[in-house]
Amino acid sequence: MVKSLPPRSAVNIEETWNLEDLFKNEEDYNAAVEQLESEVASFEEQFKGKITDENAIIAALNGYASILGKMTPIGAYQSLAHSVDQTNDEAQMRSSKYGSTASKLGSQLSFFTSELSEVPSELLENAMNQSEEYKNYLEELIRQKPYKLHPEVEKTLAAFSSVLNAPYGLYNTTKLVDMNFDDFEVDGENYPLSYTTFEGGWESETDTKKRRAAYDAFHAKLREYQHTTAKAYDMHLQKEKTTSDLRGYENVFDYLLFNQEVDRSMYDRQIDLIMKNLAPHMRKYASLLQKVHGLDEMNFSDLKIPLDPNYEPKITIEESKKYIDDALAIMGDDYMNMIDRSYKERWTDFAQNAGKSTGAFCSSPYGVHPYILISWTGSMEDVFVLAHELGHAGHFYNAHQHQNIFNSRPSMYFIEAPSTMNEMLMANHLLSNSNDPKFKRWVISSIVARTYYHNFVTHLLEAAYQRKVYERIDAGGSVNANVLNNLKRGVLEEFWGDDVKINEGAELTWMRQPHYYMGLYPYTYSAGLTISTQVSKRILEEGQPAVEDWLKVLQAGGTKSPAELSKMAGVDITTEQPLLDTIAYIGELIDQLVELTDEIEAAQVN
Ligand SMILES: [Zn+2]
Repeated sequence: MVKSLPPRSAVNIEETWNLEDLFKNEEDYNAAVEQLESEVASFEEQFKGKITDENAIIAALNGYASILGKMTPIGAYQSLAHSVDQTNDEAQMRSSKYGSTASKLGSQLSFFTSELSEVPSELLENAMNQSEEYKNYLEELIRQKPYKLHPEVEKTLAAFSSVLNAPYGLYNTTKLVDMNFDDFEVDGENYPLSYTTFEGGWESETDTKKRRAAYDAFHAKLREYQHTTAKAYDMHLQKEKTTSDLRGYENVFDYLLFNQEVDRSMYDRQIDLIMKNLAPHMRKYASLLQKVHGLDEMNFSDLKIPLDPNYEPKITIEESKKYIDDALAIMGDDYMNMIDRSYKERWTDFAQNAGKSTGAFCSSPYGVHPYILISWTGSMEDVFVLAHELGHAGHFYNAHQHQNIFNSRPSMYFIEAPSTMNEMLMANHLLSNSNDPKFKRWVISSIVARTYYHNFVTHLLEAAYQRKVYERIDAGGSVNANVLNNLKRGVLEEFWGDDVKINEGAELTWMRQPHYYMGLYPYTYSAGLTISTQVSKRILEEGQPAVEDWLKVLQAGGTKSPAELSKMAGVDITTEQPLLDTIAYIGELIDQLVELTDEIEAAQVN
């Protein structure tokens, strides 16, 4: 049963993360901000207009790295503190204040990349030869050079950065502060509703009457805020399009893919192939759900029910450790030491409370340790989500040990590979432990309903919709709630065909994702999982050598492109083969679910 959430002040401290590893208290935080401000001021004084030879380039890069090293924990502290309770005034004000400070500092620092870009290539080459450490950073700088604007323009844009990022703040404020859900009623009883309880509970509630009532109430509330949310989003899109034009990119897609080091064909292929080839498999899965639950019709609001709810064990935070340990043990001692520390040192915020960001994420400030946000409901799904976030943690934990602050973060295209890899390891571990058809069906349905559904369906449909939005924006258009609703509904109908009725409310799904404020992010989930599916198969077949390759990939951080990183792990993502293999694999899993269901039902009849 879903309960209403307590305020942050009432949660058990053991279930919260320990931000003291960033700063002991507010005083230390404020002192660090002051120190950062003075370091930036002296950096500006020392280097502005003076980056004239390779020694000055290296010295300035050292200074810049030091500034980034100080800025990172400050940025993490204010944003993490805010994310666990967006209704908290103090955290809100600290965040806004830091937003202005960061804009000011960014503006002061903008001379650095501007001047470096103007330095003759020969000098940059010399600097690269002198310092291997900064080679990647300088290569990237040279790659960006054609899109740089006049230094004064860069400075002005940086000064306005918090204003330019305001749409995302507005999105979150509408969603997490202003939107208050009333209880909904079923058969004379009232039930509480919120973003977290809907996504973490009601959406997968097996009582059809309650599930559908919660769905209706949830979307009725979203609908009240659709125009504000759409307006904030349109503002964000226009900003991206204007930036793309000003900087001289051919189109907004090229602009958004530039930093991902991915060409348009890799992006389009991921969306096109999945829309076409995965849809028949997923429709089969929807029909299986309908049959098993004896539903009169299969609605969009029914897609999240577990195949076998009776089998769903309840798992405490403490018990999750055993699952995680057993599943990830293959990653070796250093990795497992990190897992131990994550529990012992409270790296994870498990608590469920009002005002907390929805979903889950991992933030890995360089020089400290990763932090994970999750709202623990006690389902097996949470164990998969935690394994996922620990995958991000393990990635940066490894990368940070081997790379400097400039080189640790790979392309967004690759970001979801290490995280989904851990989900695959979890599934493989569970499957290897039993031959009981009910247990097997439950594990496979967890992978299908959670791992693949989330990454290949939910996020991919977001990506397909997002592509339509950007096509419109790129042609000089704009969007409002009606346009977005139509685009979203169109994508859902195309994918699910006649097998799932896209009932009213589904078109508002675009309001639920913060990803739309992060560029072309949604499609990278399926890209990452394509890589991890193939590598996890290698780990199953070859064991240790494949694990060793994978650890090297994690340690490489951002020093290689997504295609190079995948190649290190034995997967060639420049062809469509890995994706086709992965889609076929999902099809096999769904066929197994159908077979196991027949087997289980036959046994019940006898
Ligand atoms: Zn992730």
